[in-house]
Amino acid sequence: MTQQIASNITWHEGNVTKEERATLLNQKGLTIWFTGLSASGKSTIAIALEQHLLHNGFSAYRLDGDNIRFGLNKNLGFSPEDRTENIRRIAEVAKLFADSTAIAVTSFISPYKSDRDSARALHDQAGIPFVEVYVDCPLEVVEQRDPKGLYKKARAGEIKEFTGISAPYEAPEAPELHIRSDLLSVEDSVKQIIEYLLSKDLIASKQ
Ligand code: ADP
Repeated sequence: MTQQIASNITWHEGNVTKEERATLLNQKGLTIWFTGLSASGKSTIAIALEQHLLHNGFSAYRLDGDNIRFGLNKNLGFSPEDRTENIRRIAEVAKLFADSTAIAVTSFISPYKSDRDSARALHDQAGIPFVEVYVDCPLEVVEQRDPKGLYKKARAGEIKEFTGISAPYEAPEAPELHIRSDLLSVEDSVKQIIEYLLSKDLIASKQ
């Protein structure tokens, strides 16, 4: 955890409780946290999931690895320290979205278990559900997909600290959902996630 620097600051509660907000907006927030190798399919599945949720009357918003690095995290690279700070900020932002009752959908490699655990702990402390989705795909397959040509560059030594090649990926031990994206279609992956959310009462049918 990054240390708090500012002193003389006070947390201000609003006039609307978490429960009242959820009732008024007819939705409870949560974070769906995708993790997996580059090109495993996190963004592809997250995009389809966000679309499905929105089309079914849910407020959902996607925070995507590359997109966030254009703005909020533009001052961060890929060193272990920067990756940790990247994930810390994303976790805080996702928590804010979820606290506002949105379904925050994050797609970041998030290779370190300790960083994902910190993201989970942050949500746990706030009483906000956190659903970790491991998008699992063998290295041979993601290297073959290589939609952005990054693996090729990493193998050629043109990209340093590339997850799966020259930087570690620590697979989740007990994710809420484990999706084998080399075996399951995008559509079926979304279906599996929706079924899980319904079965755990994390979302309720809006029809
Ligand atoms: P990530 O966000 O994990 O880096 P992307 O979603 O950007 O991955 O890229 C995954 C690539 O794999 C895309 O080109 C996508 O079309 C392809 N793909 C093929 N099959 C699947 C699948 N079942 N699920 C997700 N992506 C798939």
